[in-house]
Amino acid sequence: MRYFTKPRGIKKKKEPWYKDGLRYECTRCGQCCTGRGYIWVDYQEILGMAEHLNLEPETFLYLYVRRVKSRRSLVQTPQGNCVFLSYDSAGQSQCKVFPARPAQCWTWPFWPANLFDERCWDQAAINCPGVGKGPLYNLTEIRQMRTASPTRRRRPQRRR
Ligand code: SF4
Ligand code: SF4
Repeated sequence: MRYFTKPRGIKKKKEPWYKDGLRYECTRCGQCCTGRGYIWVDYQEILGMAEHLNLEPETFLYLYVRRVKSRRSLVQTPQGNCVFLSYDSAGQSQCKVFPARPAQCWTWPFWPANLFDERCWDQAAINCPGVGKGPLYNLTEIRQMRTASPTRRRRPQRRR
């Protein structure tokens, strides 16, 4: 006699808490381009930024990129500003490589750690006045940016 295992029901994938979309609009305060941390870049992004600045990739690497173990990050000033951050006369931030900026920048604030739950999203809004405001990004757009983000996907550590 053969025994058949009972077929398991196909589990329906749980919808993420942001299934109805999230709002975001940059106010150009520049806060996300300052402070301690890393601005991860890969080789394709280095090529794109070098081309944007009309530099040879080697020159770009020498001037603007530092190694962090096996990864590469953009150089920061002693104050912690990204080397490409500047401000216009109205005090609005500008990125000197904006059309070619790295994925870490254009995927903000839809990073895995910010999307972990609503509390994480609200925490991101503390430092970014654009979070929760402006046009609505739909689930597909959010997922695309979440996937493209080079930031860590692990569960965020919280202080209790
Ligand atoms: S912190 Fe937010 S609002 Fe300010 S420049 Fe960065 S993305 Fe824009
Ligand atoms: S590359 Fe541009 S957007 Fe990214 S941190 Fe630097 S100044 Fe900000």
